[in-house]
This record gives sequence, structure tokens and C-alpha cells, in this order.
Amino acid sequence: MSSEAKILLPESELPRAWFNIIPRLPNPPAPPLDPKTGRPLDPEALRAIFPRSLIEQEMSPEPWIEIPEEIREVYRLWRPTPLRRAWRLEQALKTPARIYYKDESVSPPGSHKPNTAVAQAYYNKKEGIRRLATETGAGQWGSALSFACKLFGLDCTVYMVKVSFYQKPFRKSLMHIWGAEVFPSPTERTESGRRILAQNPESRGSLGIAISEAVEDAATHEDTNYALGSVLNHVLLHQTVIGLETKKQLELVDERPDVLIGCVGGGSNFGGFVFPFVGDILAGDLEAEVIAVEPTSCPTLTKGLYRYDYGDTAGLTPLLLMHTLGHTFEPPGIHAGGLRYHGDAPLVCQLVADGLVKARAYPQNPCFEAAVLFAQTEGIIPAPETSHAVRAAIDEALKCRETGEEKVIVFNFSGHGHFDLAAYDDFLEGKLEDYEYPEEKILEALEQLPRISAPKDDD
Ligand SMILES: *Cc1c(COP(=O)(O)O)cnc(C)c1O
Repeated sequence: MSSEAKILLPESELPRAWFNIIPRLPNPPAPPLDPKTGRPLDPEALRAIFPRSLIEQEMSPEPWIEIPEEIREVYRLWRPTPLRRAWRLEQALKTPARIYYKDESVSPPGSHKPNTAVAQAYYNKKEGIRRLATETGAGQWGSALSFACKLFGLDCTVYMVKVSFYQKPFRKSLMHIWGAEVFPSPTERTESGRRILAQNPESRGSLGIAISEAVEDAATHEDTNYALGSVLNHVLLHQTVIGLETKKQLELVDERPDVLIGCVGGGSNFGGFVFPFVGDILAGDLEAEVIAVEPTSCPTLTKGLYRYDYGDTAGLTPLLLMHTLGHTFEPPGIHAGGLRYHGDAPLVCQLVADGLVKARAYPQNPCFEAAVLFAQTEGIIPAPETSHAVRAAIDEALKCRETGEEKVIVFNFSGHGHFDLAAYDDFLEGKLEDYEYPEEKILEALEQLPRISAPKDDD
């Protein structure tokens, strides 16, 4: 153990390949299903919205996938990111635990999201695409993709969840600076948007609705593809640079993690952070507790069902086997916009279903409380999403204070909250509500789940 406050890797240690967890899993992942037939999806069907290379990565059996030099070149703008020891937080908590956090907030857009945005922009450009369409919640994904598109010379159209469009104006400015066009979703530009607005002109939007709009935009324009910021296997694959670097950094200071923590919206920062460690756990080389943290207002992993469901509200996307609150679920407008999604990455859900990952939910006030303590000790202001991981790390460290255990707690610091200061103001003024989603609302949304239990055997 060393006394370093930040553990840095030289650029030469930037990973050369992404870590694919699929071939390491005890059971193969359930196939995505075609929304029209309910049968396993023909990958060719995805060609309308995704480039071939990303479709291949989605299904790849290869244990490692080489990172093209052009992508590593861009990663070098901010990677490798620091692993930091939270000395001052430990002291404030009077815990014998050692707390480390992987600081993904140092990227230009301020979160982990460009790790995949850059890769997706690169592969689309290489395959002759001119424009990418996408959705965004709090704006982190939209800003990350705008940044990546600008670097690779692509146009970018962002459908931004309406409640966030007005709550979080500054990430919209980032998107504009990086050259993207941004619309508050639901819009009048798409069939799906017009249908939602006809039903409810006051709709505050949701990620599910915005996804429907972006997918429709991509599917109806030849030169345009769609890019998703989370959930899909290839997105989690690109994010494994986080966990791969963290492993090397922990080795540098001779530490082994006892507890690994990440917040979960669609599961990409969590998956990218923990998968390389889960690989070791599956191989019998590591024993560690792995904890996924979500908000009680959108309790996908803790209250949802493990079932096939659509990724979007209109039911245009393939059906994925995942924990879901139902694709019609519209979560309340909490400040952790990036965690307001009805489903979760199938790969993360499978680990939860297999008992390899534990899920936990927190209301937003205890998370902001943890985030303020973190800011007052470590200095960095966490994004509201990240504050969920901070809360869980603090609770684990407080447990160690009770038991006297010197556990090594490592969490992913997915992003900073410099554009979420209005949420902090609300918290400091005692204006934030702790929202528990009412049980009957969850049941109502779950009633809408498509009636498909398992893929048909005869295919
Ligand atoms: C988007 C986002 C999340 C949630 O998305 P995941 O795909 O679950 O990682 C978490 N933290 C930050 C800072 C984000 O921008």
C-alpha cells in the first residue's frame, strides 16, 4: 500500500484492446428478439441504423477486441484517467477502509461517455455515414456524441428529453459549441414524437420516447445512423477501458478490491468499470462484492422484472432480456437524469440474475448529502448520477467503521456535476423530494410488458 493521492498511468499504458465479457460468462446471453416476429433478430435488420463493425462487436465471441489507433489517438486527450485515493473522505468518515475512485470526470464533456462516443463516431465515419442521430437525458451523452462527431467530421442530431432540455440548459450549450443540433423531445419532427404529443401535449419526455425519435430519424435517412449511449453490448465493451486501467492502477499500489461500486442508468459506466474484475471473479482469481446503485425513483434492478422488453417507448427497437419497469414507464423528473431509464444493459442484468452483482437503490437526498460531503473533502463535485455511487461507497466505509474491517472500496466516479449546480442549490435549500415510485404505478407499467417469455426453440 502506498500513500499516493492519485495513481497515474503513462499514455503508453492506455489499453490496446477492449475486454469482452461475453465469452467468459457461464451462460451465453439471451438473443435480442425482432419486435415484429418475436423471433431471434437477424443482425442484418440492424444495418438500417448501425454500422457493420458495431453489429459485429455486439455479438462478438472474441475475448479481446483491438482498439483502432485513431480511437486511441483521441482517447489520449484525457486517458488514462487518474485513480484517486479518497484520503480526506476516509478521515472524515473515520473509517479503516481504503477508498479509491476512478475519475472519469476529466474527459472534455466531463463523464465516461466519450469512451464509447469516440468509438461509435469513428466506426460510422469509416463506413461512410454522414450524420448520427441520438437521444440524451441530462445531456451527458448528447454532449459526448457531439464532441466525438466534431472530431471525426460527422453531423449530429440530438433529441433531448424535454424536462432536461429546460432543467439543464448548459449541456445544450456544449452540444451547440461542438456543432450539434438539439431538439426538446417529444418533437413534431417524427411519427413517434407526434403520437406522444397527440396523447399528452404536456409530456415531459423520457429517454424511451427520445430513443424512438432518434431511431426513427436514423431509419428513415440513408446517410444517417443511430448511436446509443448505454445498454448495448458494444457500448459496455468500449467502456471497459475504465476497468482495465483501474486494474493496472490498483496493481501499481499493490491493492486488491474487496468492494466494487458503480451507479447504473443503462449500465455502461458500471459494466465498463466492473467487467474486467468480474472476469477475474469468474476465473476464480478474485473475490469481491460488486454493487450496482440506482435511484428509488427508477428502481429497475431492485423492483423491475427480468423479462424481454423494448428499449424504447414506441416499441421500435429489438426486444432485450433485461430487468425492466416496462417500456411505457415514465419516471419522475429527478435530477439524476442519466439514471431515468426503464431498462438496463442485458449484460449487467444477467450478472444480477446470476447473483454475481448486487443491486441497491437510494432516494436522491441521501445521495446529494453524500455528494456534498465528497465535494467538501475531495473537492470534486459529483454529477447527480455519480452521487449514487458515492453514497454506496460511503455506506460501505461506514460499515467498516462498525466492524473494524480494512476493506478496499473502489468506485467509479462517472462524471462531475458542474452543469448540475441548480440541483445542488435545490438540495441545499431543502427543496428536493425523495421520490419512491408507487408500487401500483410499477405494476401498471409492468402490465404493458410484451407477452414473450423465451425465444422460440425452432429457430
Ligand atoms: C449517463 C451517465 C450515467 C448513467 O449511464 P450508464 O450508462 O448507466 O453509465 C452515470 N453517470 C454519469 C456521469 C453519466 O453521464
